[in-house]
Amino acid sequence: MIYLDYASTAPIDARVAAKMFHFLTKAGAFGNPSSQHGFGKPARLAVEAARREVASLFNAKPECLIWTSGATESNNLAIKGVAEFYQRRGRHIITSQTEHRSVLDVCTYLMQRGFEVTFLKPTGEGIIEPEMVQNAFRDDTILVSLMHVNNEIGVIQDIQKIAQLTRERGILFHVDAVQSTGKLHIDLTKWPIDLMSFSAHKLYGPKGIGALYVCDNPKARLSPLFHGSGQEQNLRSGTLPTHQIVGMGEAYRIAKEEMPLELTRLQSLQNLFWEQLRDLPGVYLNGHPTQRVPTVLNLRFENIEKEHLMQDLESLAFSTSAACTAGNHLETSHVLRAMGLHNELAYRSYRFSFGRDTTEAEINQAVLLIQQSHRERRK
Ligand code: PMP
Repeated sequence: MIYLDYASTAPIDARVAAKMFHFLTKAGAFGNPSSQHGFGKPARLAVEAARREVASLFNAKPECLIWTSGATESNNLAIKGVAEFYQRRGRHIITSQTEHRSVLDVCTYLMQRGFEVTFLKPTGEGIIEPEMVQNAFRDDTILVSLMHVNNEIGVIQDIQKIAQLTRERGILFHVDAVQSTGKLHIDLTKWPIDLMSFSAHKLYGPKGIGALYVCDNPKARLSPLFHGSGQEQNLRSGTLPTHQIVGMGEAYRIAKEEMPLELTRLQSLQNLFWEQLRDLPGVYLNGHPTQRVPTVLNLRFENIEKEHLMQDLESLAFSTSAACTAGNHLETSHVLRAMGLHNELAYRSYRFSFGRDTTEAEINQAVLLIQQSHRERRK
């Protein structure tokens, strides 16, 4: 099998796994990071070192990071947290139709509780223009929540520009940066963003750990989802999972160190893939052609039955829709439909995503299989 589904999850880097192991057993620093005795201290120091490593990837103050169980929780904490805390100031939220389910479903949940939500419709290329956001502002808008890079089509939103608009209006801005961390430069000392969600497992760290950046100047206020022992500045109670946190820290440290070279390599792999497919009749790229990351391509095969393509590409692991919504065979991507793609064409669209272990030989093999299928099955 050739793995081309890195946007869904990535394997843990061996260096990360090795570092995590030390924090699991009696031979290592297994203590509770909150304990005041000698077993707690090394765990606490490791947690704080990891916080600095993670924050450093997007140039934030380490004390602004709250550990969570992943981006689903970070998105929930950001949006529900702001909604509850600021509900007397206003009850209007702006987001887009192409967000991840962990944003869309939270918004729907809040609508059932008296909030109003504007779901912006993207352009045909999947872009949310800053003016669309500005035009949706109301006096009672308390929050804008948008993703930096779309997980299904890989397009990049101009969050820097949108952040300036929200800050001018005194509206909080939350960004889901799961798919952009390690792929794009992010500078939170310069960009006026209030809340940002991260996940470790898309960046060769462990599953089940993530973080929420909460700006402290001006301070974004949140109501917590969990109540308990008051860890993480009372915003996320629960014993800190030292090994997971250390894993995320190491993964982000490696990403920062290796990012420039890695991205050049990935861009050339993506080019190699797309250049060999783009001229095939009926094959199209979904989403903006240039405003995109070098790791995700969403392709549409208009002339090949899905069943046939899936049969022919059995040895490739790629995504037929976002993995999180997979399982329901007939449900087509809400992202592609929001961009105006007809249901049948959305159904014939697939996401290929590349990562640290992808090789040129794998790309060529994948291209060969696709070309073969196209030759034999095309109608
Ligand atoms: N947001 C985006 C853009 C994602 O791609 C994902 C993962 N599919 C999530 C949020 C959820 O992240 P996690 O798996 O860490 O809960």
